[in-house]
Amino acid sequence: MKILITGGAGFIGSNLTKRLVDDGHQVVVLDNLLRGNKIDKNTFSKIEFVKGDVRDTELVNKTVSGCDMIFHFAAVLGVDVVADNPVETMDVEVIGTRNIVTAAEANGVKKIMYASTSGIYGHSAIESALTEEVLVDPRTSYAMAKRYNEIYLASHHEEKGLDSISLRFFNVYGHNQDNRMVVPRFFEQAVKNDPITVFGTGKQTRDFTYIDDTVEACVRLMQVKGTHIVNIANEHEWCIEDLAEIILKITDSSSEIKYIDAPKKRYDYEVERRVGSSEKLVKLTGYKPDTNLQEGLTKIYSTF
Ligand code: UDP
Repeated sequence: MKILITGGAGFIGSNLTKRLVDDGHQVVVLDNLLRGNKIDKNTFSKIEFVKGDVRDTELVNKTVSGCDMIFHFAAVLGVDVVADNPVETMDVEVIGTRNIVTAAEANGVKKIMYASTSGIYGHSAIESALTEEVLVDPRTSYAMAKRYNEIYLASHHEEKGLDSISLRFFNVYGHNQDNRMVVPRFFEQAVKNDPITVFGTGKQTRDFTYIDDTVEACVRLMQVKGTHIVNIANEHEWCIEDLAEIILKITDSSSEIKYIDAPKKRYDYEVERRVGSSEKLVKLTGYKPDTNLQEGLTKIYSTF
């Protein structure tokens, strides 16, 4: 297939780009390179690269032409960045996705795979892992716009028959991630023997999903027809304090763990618990992300 990946030079995008190229697909990447190009040289030599912004209607229309499927992953990302740029965050989501959907329809694209987020669940109460059916609670401009786009894509399926999957990623970590996110940040601190900065009590939890599992889930979902919202989760709940301990052990670091107040802009959005159910993913594809955190973190360290 000929597949367009917007944001294909970013963290999840670059890993997906490599996988789709290795699987023999013809890949086109559209990326503004604001965060650099994370695609390795060998993969880059095999793709068509277009530098630009998803808000550029004409460029999007031209780039989508001839593609069979689109992974729409371009986004403004990171709690701090989003808090500083709420309007741009929503613009990129809303205008970008409108451009992608309009161009998809005009060019006969069969399906859109959209990067949504588990941030949509916000402070939704959880007694067990979050399913796609629970009442969502988006708090940030990022999560609100992602939820809006999920609804937009679902309604387009109803009205025009365009297939789509909204992928609710749960704290993906792995190769090529930059230190806006907690895992690479703790690794960087540990390797330098600097203090590990745990925000708050460190008892807040996240469901860390390894990048290769995330990419595998995306690839499997390419085969699924219709429109769906699907969690991409590992189903294990880890507290941040434990994450710090594991990274200290793996890196054999002499860093101390330092408990500090979360930066103000982050504190407003901080979620205490987050763990996802992958039941729907399993039902649709037969696949369950299962790399445990220790194993995933060890793999990352081996590439240092
Ligand atoms: N975190 C932390 N120290 C840091 C960066 C992050 O303790 O230096 C915590 C943060 O408070 C949150 C978790 O790690 O509870 C995950 O943060 P991240 O920004 O990676 O993703 P989020 O789930 O908040 O979108």
